[in-house]
Amino acid sequence: MSKSTQNNDATEQKRPKLDIPDDWQSIDDVIKSNQLMLERQYACDVFFLLGEQGVRQGAHKYVLISRSTVFDSMFCGPLCDSEASVASLDIALPDIEPDAFGSLLNYLYSGSTDVTADNVIPLLYAAKKYAVAGLINKCIAFVENHLDAQNACAVMEQAHFFDERDFQKKVLVVIQRKAEEVLATDDVTNLCEECLTTIVQSDQLMTKEELVLSACKRWAESECQRRGLCVSDENCRIMLGNTLYMIRFPLLEPSIFVKEIVSGSLLSEEEKVDVMGRYIVASREGTFFNSNLRTKQRHIRVHRFQGKKEYAFNNRSGSNAISFEVSKDVYVEGFIIFGTCRTGEHELEVKGFILDPADKVMCSVETSVVTSGKKDSYDVIFDESARVHQGTMYTLVVDIKGSHTFAGEGGRMAALSNDVIFTFTHSEKSLTGTTVSHGQLPGLICSL
Ligand SMILES: [Zn+2]
Repeated sequence: MSKSTQNNDATEQKRPKLDIPDDWQSIDDVIKSNQLMLERQYACDVFFLLGEQGVRQGAHKYVLISRSTVFDSMFCGPLCDSEASVASLDIALPDIEPDAFGSLLNYLYSGSTDVTADNVIPLLYAAKKYAVAGLINKCIAFVENHLDAQNACAVMEQAHFFDERDFQKKVLVVIQRKAEEVLATDDVTNLCEECLTTIVQSDQLMTKEELVLSACKRWAESECQRRGLCVSDENCRIMLGNTLYMIRFPLLEPSIFVKEIVSGSLLSEEEKVDVMGRYIVASREGTFFNSNLRTKQRHIRVHRFQGKKEYAFNNRSGSNAISFEVSKDVYVEGFIIFGTCRTGEHELEVKGFILDPADKVMCSVETSVVTSGKKDSYDVIFDESARVHQGTMYTLVVDIKGSHTFAGEGGRMAALSNDVIFTFTHSEKSLTGTTVSHGQLPGLICSL
């Protein structure tokens, strides 16, 4: 949990102060009036006791009922006690902190609220609990667009805390792809043991094993301090538990193994001998540690256009599509789209999938992308990657709804990236004018 979600005053601080005169009822702005009723806690007829501290927050049943089927059932459904429904109520919500609930109320009262890396998962939890579809979508879009190496661990921990499994998977994909940066952040040391294990056991971390070891050691040292233990190799070994055996010691550079491990007691003598033996005889089966290379260690971004047109491309006539072949088997992880050519923030609804030669969907994604006008292109990552084989034709199909976007020009029939040749051909599924030479779908994101 972030510190801000535990700050009971944060709700008040975050709620925008409204510049409304005393005769506020005469102002012709329903949203402002609603917000003011909430901000001043005026004529509230329901109260919530939030978080473990039971911080009291008032609201208005009328607004809640009009914006959430769950509140509707709670206050007007067949199971609701009619006596209680007309009286003022105190409803205990120990699972929702005041900050997240304040943001939920802002949304219910005004149709907008600030979503940040600190509040997104608690807010998503609250939005799901009260079935507020618009806010759920806003939270999902935020995570998909703002998740980066710096906030990945914090968001992963929040997603774990609120049991948001789909988000945990999405965050793990970002962590795998940006492992080098993620493992260097301080937030790694604040992960719970389960989340650390999830990361360390991943086959797809794109980083050197030295950084995995270093992150695990820093985490174990922090864990010793959290438990009031002295920081020693022996205690770090105990803190790491089974996670120690997920560090792929045989993949370390021998010189680093000697420097970092041999003279210490993080590993037992028997374990050290086991690893040293594998340095000497590479094919030797080990006893303790996994020595499989972490796969997908090379990230490939292939761009098919040589330039970008400044004209607005209309995606409304249907799907964009492009067919491709690869010269070597790769995993397709996602694709690149152009942003909108208008200034300011705009949301694009994006639906994409890869078809195999029999037109069977191999992987897909449905998401919204908030374009800022500052970046030309944005990555969209499939929910799961798809293995594509050399010499076989696949097709990327993408629907984009929203403002007009930039478009590429000078498209190449073949592009080389990381020793893989991508060959592009026109697809009849393309209904927008996207072709090999111009249009949308500027690139693919793959891994080996
Ligand atoms: Zn966790």
